[in-house]
Amino acid sequence: MRVLITGGAGFIGSHLADAYLARGDEVFALDNLSTGSFENVRHLQTCPRFHLTIDSIHNVRVVNELVDACDVVLHLAAAVGVRLVVDHPVQTIETNVGGTEVVLAAAACGKKKVLVVSTSEVYGLSDRVPFREDDPLVIGPTTTARWGYACSKALDEFLALGYWRERRVPVVIARLFNTVGPRQTGRYGMVLPTFVRQAIAGEPITVHGDGMQTRCFCDVSDVVASLVKLVDHPSAVGEVFNVGSDYEIAIGELAETVKILADSRSELILVPYCDAFPAGFEDVQRRVPDLTKLHDLIGYRPTRTLEQIIQRVIDSHRAAHSPRERAVRV
Ligand code: UDP
Repeated sequence: MRVLITGGAGFIGSHLADAYLARGDEVFALDNLSTGSFENVRHLQTCPRFHLTIDSIHNVRVVNELVDACDVVLHLAAAVGVRLVVDHPVQTIETNVGGTEVVLAAAACGKKKVLVVSTSEVYGLSDRVPFREDDPLVIGPTTTARWGYACSKALDEFLALGYWRERRVPVVIARLFNTVGPRQTGRYGMVLPTFVRQAIAGEPITVHGDGMQTRCFCDVSDVVASLVKLVDHPSAVGEVFNVGSDYEIAIGELAETVKILADSRSELILVPYCDAFPAGFEDVQRRVPDLTKLHDLIGYRPTRTLEQIIQRVIDSHRAAHSPRERAVRV
């Protein structure tokens, strides 16, 4: 199979590329290297079945050519990370909505299957935990930039489902919950790589708010395995799926666990939201997926425990920052 991965040099996109190449497929990655990085795919450079195009998702000609050359598209190119989204609201909406329009329009010509990667952010402030795919979305006010991201991804979902219903373009929508693992950077605010970096450096571990807010963390390898199975499954077409883990942990407890596993002497500090984010930021208190629909269709459950996941992130952080690895990069 020839697979196009938009955002293919990103954290999740690069792991997807690894998975498809491992099973013998040919991978075309499109990435503008804004939040993605060449480092994520450097190891694939010599693989003849891997092709990287460094360009924008807004470049209609390039997207059309790549979609034409491939059998399926996994659309991951998007603005990522709460911090980036809050700091750059215009770019966020333009990238997410405009990029998805370009990809779907290109896929419509050859009726190519598209997996659109969406996000648990679309559930917004809903308190119907665990979140089911058919739950109402509870989006906060337009004056809070975070919800612009949620709305842009919700619009992507409407658009994709519209392409399926109106133009018979086979689409699948995956709402990813907190995905973590090697290659994820804390640069855009993500909590686990941030805590791991702080713990290893002996810096204070910065827990936002009171640390009672919860998330469910899933290893990227389990997320990628689920996405590949969804793309392969004919009954996934026209459907929305939560993808992730349903093991819930409070952020304060996550910080404690990282500190212990990293054997760190860092102190834990509580940082008020108003100091961590620009004015008007609003956090989500609990975020837990209902994974029934996903499990019923593909029969897959996450394979790694949270401790194993955290340990893998610690190990990869240490390996990436070892003197030998730094010398190789220079
Ligand atoms: N968080 C934190 N300290 C940090 C970074 C994030 O306490 O240094 C918190 C953040 O406020 C949120 C949770 O961790 O409550 C998850 O944040 P992340 O950005 O990783 O994911 P999302 O909010 O999109 O679920």
